[in-house]
Amino acid sequence: MEQEPELIARTADELVGDLNKQQSEAVQYRGAALLIGAGAGSGKTRVLTRRIAWILSQFGAWPSQILAITFTNKAAAEMRERLTALIGPVAQRMWVSTFHSACVRILRRDGKALGLKSGFSIYDSADSERLVKIIATEFNVDVKRYTPRSILGRISDYKNQLIGWRVQLAAYAPDFKPGSRNYRISKFDNVEELYAIIYAEYEHRLAMANAVDFDDLIVRTVELLRDHPDVAEYYHHKFRYILVDEYQDTNHAQYVLVRELGGVDSSEAPQPTAVAAGRQGPAWITVVGDSDQSIYAFRGADIRNIQDFEQDFPDAKTILLEQNYRSTQTILDAANAVIAHNEGRKPKKLWTAVGKGEPIVGYAADNAQQEAVWVASEIARLHAEEGIAYSDMAIMYRANAQSRSLEEALINAGLPYQLIGGTKFYERREVKDALAYLQAILNPADDVNLRRILNVPKRGLGARAEAIVLEYARERGSSFFDALMHMEQIEGMPTRTAKGLAAFRDLMASLSAFARANINKPSEIVAEVLSKSGLLEELQKSVDPQDQSRVENLSQLQSTAAEYEQKTPDATLGGFLETTALVADSDQLPDENEDSGKVTMMTLHTAKGLEYPVVFLTGLEQGTFPHSRSLEDTSELAEERRLAYVGITRAKRRLYVTRAAVRAQWGQANDMLPSQFLDEIPDELIDWKRREAGSERMRAGWGGDDEFGGWEEDDFLSGPVFGGGSYGSGSSYGSGRSGSASGGWGSAAPRSGSSSRGSSYGSGSGYGSSSRYGSYGRHGSGSASSSNRSGKVSTRHVSPKSAPASALHKDNGLNIADFAVGDHITHDQYGLGKVVEVQDKGRNSVITVDFGTDGVKRLMLRVAPIEKL
Ligand code: ATP
Ligand code: MG
Repeated sequence: MEQEPELIARTADELVGDLNKQQSEAVQYRGAALLIGAGAGSGKTRVLTRRIAWILSQFGAWPSQILAITFTNKAAAEMRERLTALIGPVAQRMWVSTFHSACVRILRRDGKALGLKSGFSIYDSADSERLVKIIATEFNVDVKRYTPRSILGRISDYKNQLIGWRVQLAAYAPDFKPGSRNYRISKFDNVEELYAIIYAEYEHRLAMANAVDFDDLIVRTVELLRDHPDVAEYYHHKFRYILVDEYQDTNHAQYVLVRELGGVDSSEAPQPTAVAAGRQGPAWITVVGDSDQSIYAFRGADIRNIQDFEQDFPDAKTILLEQNYRSTQTILDAANAVIAHNEGRKPKKLWTAVGKGEPIVGYAADNAQQEAVWVASEIARLHAEEGIAYSDMAIMYRANAQSRSLEEALINAGLPYQLIGGTKFYERREVKDALAYLQAILNPADDVNLRRILNVPKRGLGARAEAIVLEYARERGSSFFDALMHMEQIEGMPTRTAKGLAAFRDLMASLSAFARANINKPSEIVAEVLSKSGLLEELQKSVDPQDQSRVENLSQLQSTAAEYEQKTPDATLGGFLETTALVADSDQLPDENEDSGKVTMMTLHTAKGLEYPVVFLTGLEQGTFPHSRSLEDTSELAEERRLAYVGITRAKRRLYVTRAAVRAQWGQANDMLPSQFLDEIPDELIDWKRREAGSERMRAGWGGDDEFGGWEEDDFLSGPVFGGGSYGSGSSYGSGRSGSASGGWGSAAPRSGSSSRGSSYGSGSGYGSSSRYGSYGRHGSGSASSSNRSGKVSTRHVSPKSAPASALHKDNGLNIADFAVGDHITHDQYGLGKVVEVQDKGRNSVITVDFGTDGVKRLMLRVAPIEKL
């Protein structure tokens, strides 16, 4: 048995003294399967952490017998931190990690049984996409029609469902043999056949490259446990307690993994051990989650895992937590009201002892720029007037693209912020190049990475040189590396190419030798690679200022390696590469107790599990949030609503909800309707600083007067239907409300962001939105919208039939039904193009058109300047 550092045993009172009754019961529960189901902020994560300490202190388990799974690396680090405070440094060595990290650890130890060699590569989605593209291109697949990303998405779905490539091949393409040379898919009967063939070949190439992709980490571990009883037995004996946070976002493969690791379905009974509370049989499983916060269906998360827990695990016990410790009652009421619109859920009532708190603040901006400026002004005001730290405030949005205008406004207002997400450090081109060198050194069979760096930096080994080696590799049935090692045998190779290839081979050999001699010093290996490969030199010589920041990124990579080295006693190059492979957006967040002094900006998905005293939920518009994809699909809309629930419940004290009446999407300015989620929040909970955007009021006959707030309901109902008024008069937002703080940023802010954007709209365009109110009503909130503020205007315009058609559409009048894949069109700017995809989304219908050298574009049909040929 492993020797563990000393554990600080805690008394019962220390562990549960400050918990409520249900929390305390959950911490102490003795039994094989426990579900802690509860709403947001009810202490689920806290209970899970305490339960681990309880199991150690009170059940007498060893730290090595526990496997705790969190959703992100950051959450794992935080949990480990808290455990360290509770039970001492022994917690540092515990298995507290994400599913993916735990699986890497298992595969590193036991992957041999599956044929994985040490140093196997972990492909991120960019690598995987590259591999799919290589295969699809070789097979002659039209990659514009079937993009590598969409093919990979399908492969990922199969994997999350644990559907193996053999099964797919047998069903759809039994004649195909992976690894066949010169295979061409010129025609196929069924798109499933295409997916099956590429899936099989993709797996074949991964195996050849001694590589796994992200999904494989889970899938192959399941395979390992299922097919290798000796390995399974080891883990059944090892892990006596498995605890999973955010269980609502597990997918099928992860669900099976938990069962396999815990030996739930295994007949073999682990030896009883005195320290493990005298237990035998399967591991005790505790899962924690909130089905209302399941927001990863697009990655295969299956809400049924949590819904069916009691049926899936024998003698399962469910404990519900209902008291929320995070938010004010107002915030909870809003969250409860919104989520109540989802059907088929178990109702639950969250309550708090914190009290009602402040009302939610609402703001309707003319456009996205103005929305951003207002948010920035409010942040400045909260900081200046109320002394709220910047780090206590977060801005959340549905999609990364929304961050741009927000960032601009924060910069103009001189506010410090940190953006989480976007292009991640390890996804940057130069960083990936450097990592590709390291990966190829460690795992020469890794074709994708080796081919990536063959001509990076440029060394005269272009596509032709690559093709020569590749062809030879095919002939030999070997890896690219192997072909390179035997390149002397390639006949008819041009001398220059031969020289170049030999130099590259020597470079890699010398880097490899260096790495072997310094395997425990990844930072030195990084330094060696950067200098000897010429990567650094090429960038340093460049006059492009972008390249200067690339140099800085490479130096950052070296520092990261050095940091890793310092804090990891048994550091290796492979270990370092693992840390780079599994980084998620949330890992960029500062530690909990560290005051970054900055406002945090992130997507709602990244915000899961976090909390902030002040939260701005932005872009609450139909088509932005809920996302346009979800507007016509009930189950996707339900998922969006869960995302809204997650967003609202991140706020502790103050919640802001904002929207823009106009937002640019795909280069087009679009009128945006208020999000139906706004309608679902009871009106009395929101204090609207500005209820309608200027343009909306003008449309409703309320131009000129920009006083906001305090409108009577009747005001909206009695105005003329199509009022006049000049655009832009509604721009004096925020005056007198933002107080002194607004002066600092106000001058830099565009005071009338709407006027420039508005002009592209034309005076009559606003009416276009009235028809959208009509379509809005279809999404289930029609009744709500007729009875509250954002429905005020719509109640008058709600029926498209009653308004003149010319006023309803500023459209080109095109109908999505008239377009089919393969049709030819002309576009005012891009010229001739061929339709490659049509998506019927009513007014938001989109067609994707291939314009040849101008590329493939997504166009919103109703505003696209196109003509069908
Ligand atoms: P989410 O659903 O967002 O993941 P959660 O249910 O995991 O939330 P926690 O993050 O564990 O909730 O707790 C929310 C907040 O309430 C935290 O700040 C936590 O410290 C606090 N909290 C939880 N239980 C108690 C308690 N019994 N006494 C005081 N504070 C508590
Ligand atoms: Mg939590």
